[in-house]
Amino acid sequence: MDAEHRDYDIAIIGGGPAGLTAALYAGRNMDRAVLFEAKGPGGQLLNTELIEDYPGFKSILGIDLAEVMAEQAVRFGATLVSSEVNGIRVEADGTKCIDTPNGEYRAPAVIVTAGGNPRKLGIPGEEEYAGRGVSYCAVCDGAFFRDVHLAVVGGGDAAVEEAIFLTRYASRVTLIHRRQEFRSQPILLDEARKNPKIDFLLDTVVEAIEGDDKVRNLALRNVVTGARSTFDVEGIFIFVGFIPNTRLVDSHVDHDKAGYYLTDPMTMMTSVPGIFAAGDVRSQLTRQITTAVGDATTATIAASKWVEEWRRGREEARAEAV
Ligand code: NAP
Repeated sequence: MDAEHRDYDIAIIGGGPAGLTAALYAGRNMDRAVLFEAKGPGGQLLNTELIEDYPGFKSILGIDLAEVMAEQAVRFGATLVSSEVNGIRVEADGTKCIDTPNGEYRAPAVIVTAGGNPRKLGIPGEEEYAGRGVSYCAVCDGAFFRDVHLAVVGGGDAAVEEAIFLTRYASRVTLIHRRQEFRSQPILLDEARKNPKIDFLLDTVVEAIEGDDKVRNLALRNVVTGARSTFDVEGIFIFVGFIPNTRLVDSHVDHDKAGYYLTDPMTMMTSVPGIFAAGDVRSQLTRQITTAVGDATTATIAASKWVEEWRRGREEARAEAV
């Protein structure tokens, strides 16, 4: 690829629903957009079996929604690059340089839609048994656990939704949560409570994952009584939240205590001019496909206007200089 094709108006980092929406809107705004995604378009859609809360689809497979979104983005002219991004450097004139293993790309505006990675429990055995009974993705690994007893850890939407999904394969799923109240949406919790294969262990934390060549049991502690016990399972699925991918930009970007980018609500711009954020990297109340798509729409329209003003500013500065 020659140097000319490395200059864009808007660079999008991450190909989940937010990134693909940004690519679609950038294309429709006639901006030259490039989207970087290392694992193939879709982001967390690829880890989600069935989506029932995306308006317009009564239900759709995550993988199918990803495919349609990617096709739509490409149809309107976005370039999808299958690559990691190592970092983003901001030059003195505001140009953003996107460093990839295949060289550098440049754009005045960047929209970070890089999502995040599952949070770990950080307990003994978790790393040792990763891939041998410890998993963070039910859609990816659930089918390996047919007719066995599984544990799911967490009390948010992901834990409850994935516990329900895992009952397709497992003979029994025990949802272990550290308190009585759940963060999960009531509709999901209700469905889990009605599922005869799911039971609940509340006020309980997992202190260690133990086994031989694979997971055999969990060391548990009741946080109210302090009682310790051993719990036999053949697999443990951990859904205890998310760590945002916000370390790419070399300049300081304002963020909240958990590391999520703080953004202007009108424009989704971060504290760095020309760097916008959408979806799960952004500090906000909830993280849904619908909110990611909404954030990205706002961010892209705002980024397009920002690029126009940035170019005008540069031309005026040049004209004044001669
Ligand atoms: P989350 O909502 O942050 O929930 C994380 C859960 O893990 C909480 O219940 C938390 O307990 C528990 N937890 C955190 N650290 C723990 C630890 N060290 N030990 C034990 N438990 C721990 O995360 P999420 O479920 O991954 O969801 C992330 C976002 O995606 C949310 O905004 C969610 O709404 C969204 N999402 C939506 C859907 C859907 O709409 N269908 C599906 C999946 C995810 P506490 O409650 O005690 O803090």
